Amino acid sequence: MRYGLLSDIHGNLEALDAVLEAMAGERIGHYLCLGDIVGYGASPNACLDRVSGLTTDVIAGNHDHAAIGKLDISTFNPYAAEAARWTRRQLTPDGRRYLGGLPYVRRNEDLFIVHASPDRPEEWIYLTSPWQADEAFDAMPAGVALCALGHTHAPAIFEQRITEDRSRQLPPSALELALELASERRYIVNVGSVGQPRDGDPRAAYCVYDTEMKQIEIKRVPYDLESAQRKIRKAGLPDLLAERLEFGR
Ligand code: ZN
Repeated sequence: MRYGLLSDIHGNLEALDAVLEAMAGERIGHYLCLGDIVGYGASPNACLDRVSGLTTDVIAGNHDHAAIGKLDISTFNPYAAEAARWTRRQLTPDGRRYLGGLPYVRRNEDLFIVHASPDRPEEWIYLTSPWQADEAFDAMPAGVALCALGHTHAPAIFEQRITEDRSRQLPPSALELALELASERRYIVNVGSVGQPRDGDPRAAYCVYDTEMKQIEIKRVPYDLESAQRKIRKAGLPDLLAERLEFGR
């Protein structure tokens, strides 16, 4: 089976369509969406339509909860808060219901998905260090070899030997090619962001997990960035949300 993993679409329809087009040529057997379908971008309803038509394996992100009033946005920065309020006004009743029904985690055989961290998923932890990965591996269900997540908008891979309880983060070079998964190790893979990458690369990110080859690969695809920016500005969303897309920040 080849799984197609996508996360942090953030209402960016141009990026999502570019990713779906690229994935159409990847012999994907099953798609999983790791949350934050909405928030920041100008096309929340269209992105919800695409994702709900693509797969039922979808989990909630913090921005999905913010957009339906399920998460207190007082801790959001002013741009994120303004975007959350704007998104809340745009959502259709169906969209609101759909987002409200998404679970925090899902398991698909040996693959576990969560938006932020398996360690207290509802607290939206930014998993960025090996010591946080230690806690995350501890919280992973037994028998799970791979946990895929998003939230930071920056691709990353953590690994741990099954016989040890210390994890390490793989160097950035490990993200450039397909990574062979060793059978005596467990992995946490941050698949990056479709709609608002923050690792300095403005191209949309997605991930393919091949269970037969035992490989994961994070891929990047360019998209019509100007059109996404134009829509953000036309919607009256903060200009910074349009600007940051071209810098991948
Ligand atoms: Zn996000």
